[in-house]
Amino acid sequence: MVLFYLALGSNLGDRIQTIDQAIARLARGGDIRPLRLSSLFETEPEGLVDRAKRFINCVLEAETALSPLSLLDSIGDVENAMGRVRPGGGAVVSRTLDLDILFYGDVIVDCERLQIPHPRMYQRRFVLAPLAELCPHRLAPPTRHTVRELLLKLDGGEKCQRVREGREWNPQEA
Ligand code: ADP
Ligand code: MG
Repeated sequence: MVLFYLALGSNLGDRIQTIDQAIARLARGGDIRPLRLSSLFETEPEGLVDRAKRFINCVLEAETALSPLSLLDSIGDVENAMGRVRPGGGAVVSRTLDLDILFYGDVIVDCERLQIPHPRMYQRRFVLAPLAELCPHRLAPPTRHTVRELLLKLDGGEKCQRVREGREWNPQEA
C-alpha cells in the first residue's frame, strides 16, 4: 500500500456534499482506503472569474495499491461520475469537482498525463493549508522545504477560511 495525498476542490452546486460523496465513491471500489481528511476551507476563486462561487478545498490522506496512472484513471472516473453538470443542450459543461494527486509515496512522476508532486501546488494556499494539517513536516520535492515552511513562505494571496473540522476513519471503516 502507498500513502497518497489528494486535493479536492468544488465551486458549483452543493460543494460540501460533492466532496463527501466523492470520497465515498473513491472508497467504494476497495482500491482506495481513506485515512484522514483535513479541515474544509472556503477560498476566493483565483483570478477574476466573474460571479464564480467560492471554492471549498481540502486534502485527503489515503492508501492505495493502485499505480499512479491507475489512480489517475480512478479519480477521473469519480470526477466524471459526479463532477460535471450537463445542462440541457450540452454546450456548457461546468465542473463541480477537481481531484489532483499531490504526493504518491515518495515517487516522482513526470509524464504527459501526470506530474507528481503536482506542479502548481506549492503556490496555492488552498492546497498547502489543508495539506499542512496532515503532514506539516513532509519534504516537498523538488524544493528542500517542508510543507509547513512553504505555507509560511506564501505571502498574502487568496483568503482561505476554515469552515469544517477534519476527520479520521477507523481502521474497520471504509
Ligand atoms: P487542473 O487540475 O489543472 O485545473 P484538470 O483537472 O482539468 O486541470 O486536469 C487536467 C489534466 O491534468 C488531467 O487530465 C491530468 O492528466 C493532468 N494531471 C497532471 N498531473 C496531475 C496530478 N498530479 N493530479 C491530477 N491530474 C494531473
Ligand atoms: Mg485537476
